[in-house]
Amino acid sequence: TTPILRVKNLKKHYPITGLFGRPVGHLKAVDGVEFDLYEKKTMGLVGESGCGKSTTGRTILRLVEPTEGEAIYKGKDIFKLKGKDLQAIRKDIQMIFQDPHSSLNPKQRIGHAIVETMKIHRIGSHKERIERAKELLLKVGIREDQFDRYPHEFSGGQRQRIGIARALAANPKIVICDEPVSALDVSIQSQVINLLKDIQENFNLTYLFISHDLSVVRYMSDYIGVMYLGQLVEKAPTDELFSHPLHPYTQALLSAIPLPNPKRKRERIIIKGDIPSPINPPSGCVFHTRCPYSTKRCEQERPVMKKQTTDHFVACHLHD
Ligand code: SF4
Ligand code: MG
Repeated sequence: TTPILRVKNLKKHYPITGLFGRPVGHLKAVDGVEFDLYEKKTMGLVGESGCGKSTTGRTILRLVEPTEGEAIYKGKDIFKLKGKDLQAIRKDIQMIFQDPHSSLNPKQRIGHAIVETMKIHRIGSHKERIERAKELLLKVGIREDQFDRYPHEFSGGQRQRIGIARALAANPKIVICDEPVSALDVSIQSQVINLLKDIQENFNLTYLFISHDLSVVRYMSDYIGVMYLGQLVEKAPTDELFSHPLHPYTQALLSAIPLPNPKRKRERIIIKGDIPSPINPPSGCVFHTRCPYSTKRCEQERPVMKKQTTDHFVACHLHD
């Protein structure tokens, strides 16, 4: 199958200047990330905070301008689009944010926020927009009589539902979910997760699902990319990643989540030290300063993503 979106060699570097504006290095927020999205499938993007997951998601919508790379959608490179063409992308690709409080305008009635999205994208007549906004709200579990209320009158979970309805209003093909449940109470999280699953079915959506929470990503995703310090270090179908993690960083991440069967024992792999700064990150393999298997080669040579088995890719010299 052909991908619906192809991201190639994506980089976002910020120049860092020192005294008198002297350049002293680069903050490499995203450094050479590549992945494909497939229709109606979910790719999970997982990693600790600050690893570049959100920046990766935002560049696709050009909310952050990439430094380098390509994002091919419908035969065009999103990173080169302007004006109307870019506007069309922002209809097809929608984003759901971590904090619906900051993405919804506090002074705008929720129904109107959804109507406005349709208006921006020239969907329907005024009457149709109102009808459809009510339908969409109902679909996400918000009653029709709530149409004229303001965001602050809703709970966090309800606001996230409204954010989802608003994203759906544009008739998107792809939805980038950036930590969509991280700000919610644990008791509410599974409701919103299941809603996202339902609407994916109903609206034939493709997801890029960004989260630091491995169990949420596991539940949502068909396949997963693991990020560390701005780079993708491993990529595999979900079951394969959880049963045969190959990258030492992935192995450490997975060893930290409790096993469902308490009789089975697994050794917790503790990685030494803290995540290094993304400003002038380590040479060679970015993980070498913390990796228990690091060698001289790891300090000097950056490992490239290599195919191990069908659909399982890893960037590590141990698997050359
Ligand atoms: Fe560890 Fe070397 Fe593999 Fe990097 S390339 S993860 S340092 S073994
Ligand atoms: Mg983030």
